[in-house]
Amino acid sequence: MTETSAPSNTSDIAVIGAGPAGLIAAGTLGHGGYRVTVYDQLTSPARRFLMAGRGGLNLIHAEELDTFLTRYGAARIRLEPAIRTFPPEALRAWVDGLGTETFVGSSHHVFPKAMKGSPLLRAWLSRLTDLGVTILPRHRWTGWEEDGALSFETPEGPKKVRPAATLLALGGLSWSKLGADPAWPDRLRGAVIEV
Ligand SMILES: Cc1cc2nc3c(=O)[nH]c(=O)nc-3n(C[C@H](O)[C@H](O)[C@H](O)COP(=O)(O)OP(=O)(O)OC[C@H]3O[C@@H](n4cnc5c(N)ncnc54)[C@H](O)[C@@H]3O)c2cc1C
Repeated sequence: MTETSAPSNTSDIAVIGAGPAGLIAAGTLGHGGYRVTVYDQLTSPARRFLMAGRGGLNLIHAEELDTFLTRYGAARIRLEPAIRTFPPEALRAWVDGLGTETFVGSSHHVFPKAMKGSPLLRAWLSRLTDLGVTILPRHRWTGWEEDGALSFETPEGPKKVRPAATLLALGGLSWSKLGADPAWPDRLRGAVIEV
C-alpha cells in the first residue's frame, strides 16, 4: 500500500484492479471496517478470472502443504508466509462458503463442480456489495498528481481521488484485452517505488 498526503478520510481505501487480488483485498479491508472503493479500467470486474474459468477453473492443488510449497520454486521463500496464512484448504473453505462446491480432478487439481468461474464471481461480488465495497469500472489509473492524489481517466473525463491509502492490484502484463496495463511498472519506478 502507498500513502497519499492529506487524505479525505482516514478510513477511505482505494484498491486499483478488480481482479482476484484486488477483490480479495477489498473484502479483507471491508471486513476490517474500512470504506473501500475498487477501480478498474475495464467495463466489468475480474475479466481474466472469467477467462481462466472457460477451460475449467483450476482453483488450487489438493496435496500435502509441504509438497504444495515446492511448486513455487525460488519464489517459495517470499510466498510461504502468505500461503501458510491462507493455505489451500482455507481457499477451498472460502469457495465453499460462497456456495461453490469443488471436486479434486486428475493430478490433484481442484475445480468448481460447475468448472467455470462465473457463479463464484457472482456470489463474491454480492458479498462485497453487502460489505459496502464500491466497484467503479471504466476508471483507468494513470498515476499520481503532484499533490499525491490518484488520477484516473473515466468516460466523464479526468478524475482525482485522495484516499487514505492505496492498494495496487494491477495484475500481470500479458493479454491486454483482459486489462493488462504495460505502463504500470514504469509508473511506479518513476515514483521511486520498487517493482
Ligand atoms: C487463459 C487463462 C487461463 C487461466 N487459468 C487459470 C486457472 O485455471 N487457475 C488459476 O488459478 N489461474 C488461471 N489463470 C491466471 C489467473 O487468471 C491470474 O493469475 C489472476 O487473474 C491474477 O489475478 P490479479 O488480480 O493479480 O490480476 P488480474 O486478474 O489481471 O487483474 C488485474 C486488474 O487490474 C486492472 N488494471 C490494470 N491496470 C489498470 C489501470 N492502470 N487502471 C485501472 N485498472 C487496471 C485490470 O483491468 C484487471 O482487471 C489463467 C489466466 C489466463 C489468461
